Amino acid sequence: MKKVVKFGGSSLASARQFEKVGKIIRSDKHRVYVVPSAPGKRNDKDTKVTDMLYGAYALAKEGKDFSKELAAIHDRYKEIIDGLKLKVSLDEEFETIRKNFEAKAGENYAASRGEYLNGILMADYLGYEFIDAAKVIFFKEDGQFDSKKTQEELSAALKEAPKAVVPGFYGALPDGTVKTFSRGGSDITGSLVAKACKADVYENWTDVSGFMVADPRIIKHPKSIETITYRELRELAYMGAGVLHEEAIFPVRKEGIPINIRNTNAPDDEGTWIVESTCQKSKYVITGIAGKKGFCAINIEKDRMNSEVGFGRRVLQAFEENEISFEHMPSGIDTMTVFVHQSEFAEKEQRVLAAIHKYAQPDYIDLETDLALIAVVGRGMRATRGTAGRIFSALAHANVNVKMIDQGSSELNIIIGVKNEDFEDAIQAIYTIFVDTQI
Ligand code: ASP
Repeated sequence: MKKVVKFGGSSLASARQFEKVGKIIRSDKHRVYVVPSAPGKRNDKDTKVTDMLYGAYALAKEGKDFSKELAAIHDRYKEIIDGLKLKVSLDEEFETIRKNFEAKAGENYAASRGEYLNGILMADYLGYEFIDAAKVIFFKEDGQFDSKKTQEELSAALKEAPKAVVPGFYGALPDGTVKTFSRGGSDITGSLVAKACKADVYENWTDVSGFMVADPRIIKHPKSIETITYRELRELAYMGAGVLHEEAIFPVRKEGIPINIRNTNAPDDEGTWIVESTCQKSKYVITGIAGKKGFCAINIEKDRMNSEVGFGRRVLQAFEENEISFEHMPSGIDTMTVFVHQSEFAEKEQRVLAAIHKYAQPDYIDLETDLALIAVVGRGMRATRGTAGRIFSALAHANVNVKMIDQGSSELNIIIGVKNEDFEDAIQAIYTIFVDTQI
């Protein structure tokens, strides 16, 4: 049995947090590969080391003095070294970083040092081997992730090292230059390591006990989700539910490796299991609710639209040409509505409208702005009658006007469009009907 454990920045923000992590790893001999983030925030006012590095490098790039900023970063690591009474010193590493900053080694290199240095400390603390991610994780010349080469090199390196630390967030381009994933990318590294060593489970340790049924900023103390499928997670993540980097599910998903989201500060909590499929029913009919504000609906009307072959394609061509992707497209007999992100659409608005007129000659176009989309997601919905009915009655009782409804053909989700200002009330009403008043 092999477990890959990834720890997020808040789990490694101080010596005290490192101790918790050490205890977690030592309590299970199967936790053989460790992927650390850079030290994160110790409290709300603190700054992540990754952001400190970006800040210091911004000065270096302009040829300004960055010694104070680099020293503050060094202090963050010294606190960990001293607190854990480690023998290792990072003095030489910081000297190298200083020189490379002066030589303008680039933002990617700068940001990656947070994970690199934390990996060195973690390996020393655990007595595990250190594997520099730049030697085992690769990007192609055009910057795209190189999955084939990474799989080959990473699995070969892991075969040689029965217990190792691989820092998260970065890899290298073909010429050896460091390149990072997008922010939060250590989750991806963890997933790649799990795939490469054919792990039995990928544990992703953070500061919450898994996914919640709804956003805790909207619902007070929401219930947590015990098991969620990859597909459900995709739907919820797309609609804004955070915790895990979106790209992190792909490598393990293909291999059928489950992800277990755990809480470093509450290690006894089971957390959330993310799995390919499960017979386990979720506790409620719905697995989760998530949503986003800031959409715009373009309503297009044309008499006898239903019998005009190619009308939909011509309308969508207008969006495609302007590089706008659409979110949903409910339609009626003589109407069709296209939902898009308002921020993307706003600046291209008139060009898109002109193109729709040119290609599709509609009778009438009308715009509605400041809309929110809410996804109610659940594998249990397929087998349950009346889910949509309950949603509507809950929303009607909460005085929320429903602008749009779209049930995906997989019956995994129901998307509801409401006004931005009704967003929170709508989520509250749906949560209450499915979770608080379970019938
Ligand atoms: N440290 C990086 C960030 O702050 C990557 C990560 O934590 O996953 O985005």
